[in-house]
Amino acid sequence: MNIKISKNPNIFYLIHSKKGPKELKLIAENLTKKHLDILFFENNTWKRLESKIDQKIFLKFRASFNLLLVSNKEELASQKAFLSVWKQYFNRNVKVIKKILEIEKRLTDTKNKKILNTDIFLVIKHDKSELGAWFSYSKNKKFIVIEIPIDHMPKNEDLFPCAILLHEFFHLLIKENKELWKTVYALRKEMPIFEELLISSFMPEGYLSQAYLGTEALKYNSEPKSLVDQRRFIANKMFDYAKNYVENNKKIDKKYLNKLMQF
Ligand SMILES: [Zn+2]
Repeated sequence: MNIKISKNPNIFYLIHSKKGPKELKLIAENLTKKHLDILFFENNTWKRLESKIDQKIFLKFRASFNLLLVSNKEELASQKAFLSVWKQYFNRNVKVIKKILEIEKRLTDTKNKKILNTDIFLVIKHDKSELGAWFSYSKNKKFIVIEIPIDHMPKNEDLFPCAILLHEFFHLLIKENKELWKTVYALRKEMPIFEELLISSFMPEGYLSQAYLGTEALKYNSEPKSLVDQRRFIANKMFDYAKNYVENNKKIDKKYLNKLMQF
């Protein structure tokens, strides 16, 4: 696995925390997420950003950002050490992650052998809630970002963070299968959260996660309101159905998607 503690792993944390100089915050607000994404890259970070934004803004941003790095040197070092504990945690579980990734590939009918080599960036989350994750998928740029609240240490027996990573991989795999992606994309127009519910019916709430990672079957409200509740609700309703697809080596098909649409 390509788990990386990026050179600038804490950009969002620093920008959003009180420590971020006002000026940096102001500039960051004017940059789109696309610009900030560039800062995750290991190489030519500044060159890439320079080509994308106004020269004056760029110089201000770089100076302000570098100042922030220098003035928080010690804290950044300890955050890097913290993230490396997480890197070890994910690497320790590579075997089971690989195994489940094979199942996800089968479900999405994709053959991409290099998917496990996708860059996975670990960053500090600027608020102290739950682990967060997101991905970027374009022709030249595929990566996953795991956001970890500071002070949130990994526990050996808790594999839920692996399930979160595997949820993001699932997103990438759906996009790799053009036919499946087209169908999911169309269904998303009818129900914007459709893709989330589809993946959740396997991972991290659904059968695949519970059976292979031993994650808890979480309860849901009888009338799911929040997105998390809806994901749990669907995972529960689809449990036996998802099990059948996983254990009989089936691919996600129209029948599965239709069943999901019923709820
Ligand atoms: Zn998702």
